[in-house]
This record gives sequence, structure tokens and C-alpha cells, in this order.
Amino acid sequence: MATPCRYFTTPIYYANGSPHAGHVYATILTSILKTHYSQRGENVKFLTGLDEHGEAVQDKAKELEISPQKLVDDMAILWKKEFARFELNNDIFIRTTDKDHVKNVQDILNYCHKKGDIYFGEHEGYYCIKCEGFLTNSERDENNNCLVHKRPTELRKEKNYFFRTSKYRDKLIDLISQGKITHQEKYKNELLGMLKNLEGDLSISRPKTRLTWGIELPFDKEHVAYVWFDALPNYVTGIGGLDQARTSEFWKNVNHIIGKDIIKFHGIFWPAMCLSLDIPLPKLLITGWLLKDAHKMSKSLGNVVTVDQILHYGRDMFVNFVFRATNPGDDIDISWKSYFERYNSDLANGVGNLLSRTLAMIEKYFERKIPKFHLNELNDEQKEIVKISQNALINVTKSFDEFRIADAMNEISNLVSLADKLIANQKPWEIAKNNDEKSLAQLENILATCVGVLRTVGYLSYSFHPSKMNELLLSIGENLNHTPPSINKVKEFTSIYSGFVCDHIPKLFNRIDIAAELAAIEPDKKKEIKKSEVKKVDKSEKLSNIENKNSDTNLATDIIQIQDFSKVQMRVGTVVSAECVDGSDKLLKLVVSLGEFGERQIFSGIREWVKPEEVVNHKVIIVCNLAPRKMRFGTSEGMMLSTDTIEGKISPVFLPEYLKEGSLLS
Ligand SMILES: [Zn+2]
Repeated sequence: MATPCRYFTTPIYYANGSPHAGHVYATILTSILKTHYSQRGENVKFLTGLDEHGEAVQDKAKELEISPQKLVDDMAILWKKEFARFELNNDIFIRTTDKDHVKNVQDILNYCHKKGDIYFGEHEGYYCIKCEGFLTNSERDENNNCLVHKRPTELRKEKNYFFRTSKYRDKLIDLISQGKITHQEKYKNELLGMLKNLEGDLSISRPKTRLTWGIELPFDKEHVAYVWFDALPNYVTGIGGLDQARTSEFWKNVNHIIGKDIIKFHGIFWPAMCLSLDIPLPKLLITGWLLKDAHKMSKSLGNVVTVDQILHYGRDMFVNFVFRATNPGDDIDISWKSYFERYNSDLANGVGNLLSRTLAMIEKYFERKIPKFHLNELNDEQKEIVKISQNALINVTKSFDEFRIADAMNEISNLVSLADKLIANQKPWEIAKNNDEKSLAQLENILATCVGVLRTVGYLSYSFHPSKMNELLLSIGENLNHTPPSINKVKEFTSIYSGFVCDHIPKLFNRIDIAAELAAIEPDKKKEIKKSEVKKVDKSEKLSNIENKNSDTNLATDIIQIQDFSKVQMRVGTVVSAECVDGSDKLLKLVVSLGEFGERQIFSGIREWVKPEEVVNHKVIIVCNLAPRKMRFGTSEGMMLSTDTIEGKISPVFLPEYLKEGSLLS
């Protein structure tokens, strides 16, 4: 039988910005799929890359005063570098400025043009430069702002070439209804709704008078291809071009992994183009958005999870969180707290701990040698684990085939729990106290079963955590040399390397201190919440501004230069007096002595946490060159620094007694 072929693609990412968490999510998902099907012996291709043409790139290059080519060349280097940090295994990194892609797009344009599916016409409509397209009525608000980008559109009238989407409309309705376009039922109706609202045909060219950064139409040198018409064919370029798509086994089983924000182009225009090109239709695996604390990530909200943050905690923690949270298709809400908790429970206390305790017992009871199975003496619990582990192969592969990735992960995690339970129930440390042969066999069976589970987990989890599973399997005698192992090995549960000397107990996943990590990554979160409460209660006083702690800046990512820091003048002060302010339940009025620099009156919003007598006569840090702030109660001439206590309160930062009043902090 011929080896089955499969082709997975990520969206190609727009080259006018750097990678973000959403890109990482889609690309790692595709990488996991590639590894998994490779482990099943299939021939798998994985394409990712950059969408490099179009108005937004041209504009960005202009803004930076460089050529568009220079911009996209730099971007390609950046993206490849970033992706290399995530253990990806793509076969193809396509760039739409590649020569073979340009030729492919022109072949495609010619094919559709000759067929009569492309015609010249005039179009007037509301154009969003960010969408790079004309918007339908349902895609704009009453002021003609783009609903996705929340920005104004432009009314444009243009003579363009059009692709006859309308010709394929009925056919598409059938295909979508039959589930031939999307893997997920839930997106069918969305696509059908979009088709219903579709007005006219798709404009597929831009006059060179307006856009030069694109692929020239082979039948009209005054126009370049519209960026989407240039981008979508990249998937065909990846397997060698239009002729290949007619015959290639890969194109018969192509799956595009895309975000739900681009389903119109992938679920309507692209299948229409494929119908026009007489090539088989691809299928879509649609992913939801990554949210942060239940909000869509956005720079203006300041809730973006950065690629550096993901990398700081590693690919494994990210994978474990986002792919276990839900099956692809739904939105995934990242909160750092649950991000860390999941890691500790699934990886550090889960498979990591099972490995280290199993190997520690093998070290203690069997001089580091992996024990052997006594198959005739397996007890019921052990037999059950063998059976469930072998079934896990069927369940995991089935879950993958239905793109229920979270279910696959849960299946694997369940095995770890069973082994933990086995140890808890059968107490090997008790059995080890006996010196008879039967006890020895029992002890061997318990630990051999644990090794069997670890081996199963190693194979089944390899696509999620390649390096770590490589390390795990190596420690129990299976040297993969970083090559994806055949998943069928899971069938032979008892084929463990008995007698192998475990001379190394890897610490696969170190437990992390959640409170400490939260304090490091979200130092201002608590204050932000408190501030918003303050705003709600006492808006007129604008208390939140009294001591503006600039809590919106993220320590981990917002780097400042030394010159910026030196602008802030901080001195040691002694609190001479402190009193509550009448009419405010938030404020303390302080008088602070700065030695030779005199005394200052400062209002501080710490009354809720600090009594006046707790601060008087203490040395504190004062920001002296802050502009004075007029308030209802008087003028505040500076700011006293304060921070969180381990009990979750707020406290001034107290300095030791021996520091000199008025001296500068630097
Ligand atoms: Zn838009």
C-alpha cells in the first residue's frame, strides 16, 4: 500500500509586523499535527511563511524609508529566527516574493482569465486598508468604520479586474452544507451566512498608479494582483504549482489551519478559486482567538502575551496550556495564574514527577536497573493499566483525526494519573520491606508498569513535547536521537528495556513558584484592580492620579534607557507627620523631611492599608521632581514609593535608619 500523504499549512503571516502569540499558536498546532502523522508513518508536508505583497507592506516601507523588498527581507529573517525558537518542523517557509510563487500566481491568473472567470469592470465601495478589501454592508458600522479594525473606511471607485465568485456561489453553498469545506461543524453556518451577504464578485487587481508592490497581471501590465489573490495560491506553490495540484497526493489531503478572522477568504474565495482551477478542494481547520483574561489581546488594552513571555516559560508550558484548554475552534483564555497552575499540575507534578519517582525507586530497589515484567503475576489494577494504555493509542489517533487535540492530551494525562494511583494503592515501599520472592515480583511489576506507562506517554506525547519526551524515553533506555518514533510501539506495552541501567534521573519539568512568577510577570495587576475600584467609588476625586504609579507599564517588556531613568529624582525622606484626610477614606497627608532640601507635603493613597503612626519617623523614598498636583485638600509635592506586601496589602517602601536624609537614589 502506498504511504498516505497529508499536507498541513498555517496561514502565511503578513510581513508588516513581527510574530505574536496567535501566530505561535497556529504554527505550533500545525507542527504538532505534522509530527503526529509522521509518527503514524505518513508522508507529511508542513508549510508556513510570509505574505509579503500589498498596500500595508508598501506603506510600512515608506514610513521606514526603506524599499518594500528590504522590509520583507528583514522580516523573513526575523520570523525565521523567532520560529526557530519553538522547535518547529516545517518543510517549507514560503515567501510570496519567491520567483516560483510569482510564476504560480501568474499561471493561476491566466487559467482563470482564459476560462472567463476574470473580467474587467468598475467597482465603488468602502475600502478598509487593514483588511485590504472592500467591505460589505454587514462588515461596517453606521459610520462606515470597519467592524474588525474599528477604523474608518475610504469610499473608493476603481476600475479593476474581478473574479466571478458569484458563478460558484450555489456550488459553494452545497459544499459547505455537506461539510466539505470545514472540519468543524460550528463554522458551517458562519460561512453560509457570509455567502448570503456576499455582494457581487471579488476585485482581484489594483492599478499600478496606486500599488506597485505586487505581482503583475500577465494579461494587463498596468495592474498588480490583489494581495489575497496573490497570497492564497501560496499553498499550491508549496507543492510545486498548479500542475502538481492536479496530480499530487498531498493536494488530495490538504488542510489549512487558519484563524477564525480569515475564514471568508479561505472558506469562500479560495474554494471558489480552486473550483475555477479544477483542482481538489482543501479543508479548513479553524482556530479561535487567544484571549487574555477574557479580553481579546490588544496593545491599547496592554494585555498582549508576547512571544518573549511565551519563550521565557518555554514551548512546553504554552503547548500544555493552549492545547489542553479546549479543542481547536474555540477561543482560549490565557490567565497567567491558570497557565502556571496547569503546568505544575500536568507537567511538573504529572509526568515529570512520575518519571522522577519511578526512577528514584528503581535506583533504590533495583540498583538502577529497569525491572522485568512477570506477566503471569500482574494483578487486576496492572492488567487494567496495560489495557487502557493500549486503548489510548486508538483514542489518541481518533482524537487527532477529528482534530480534538485537547481530548488527545487528556487521554495521555489520564495514563499518568493511573500510574500515580497504582503507586499510591500498592505502596511499593511497603512491599520492599519483605524479602520473599513473591514480594520481589510484585515490586518489579509495579515499577515495570510505571515504566510502561512512561514509555507510552513518551510516544503519545512526542508531538506535543518533542525534546522533553526524547529526554524521557532516553532515560528509560530508548534512544530516539530526536527522530519522531513510530506511534505503533505503544501497542507493545511490556516491551520495556528491562535491565537497562538508569544512570540519570532527568528533571523534566521543574515546579514553579506560582506566586513569585505572578509577581514577576504581573507586578501591577493587584494595583490595577484596586485602582479601578477606586475609580468606580470616587470618580470626582480622581484619586487614582494622586500617586500615579505608572502601573500600566510592564516590567518584563518595557525597556527604558538609562537617560530615562535618570530623569526621575528619588531621595531619602523622613516622614515627620502623618494624618488622615477629612473627606477621603483613601488619603494620608504626610509631611516629609528631605534634610537640606526642606520639607514636602505629600498626599498618599495608602490609608486603607497603613495607619498614620505606622509611617511616622520612618525613612521612605520620595520622588522629588514630580510636577506638584493641586487637589481638593491641598497640593501634593511629590510621591512616596510604595509596593505590595506578601499579604496582598500596600506598604510604603521603608528604608533602613542609617540612610541619610535627602540623599539621592541612583
Ligand atoms: Zn478592516
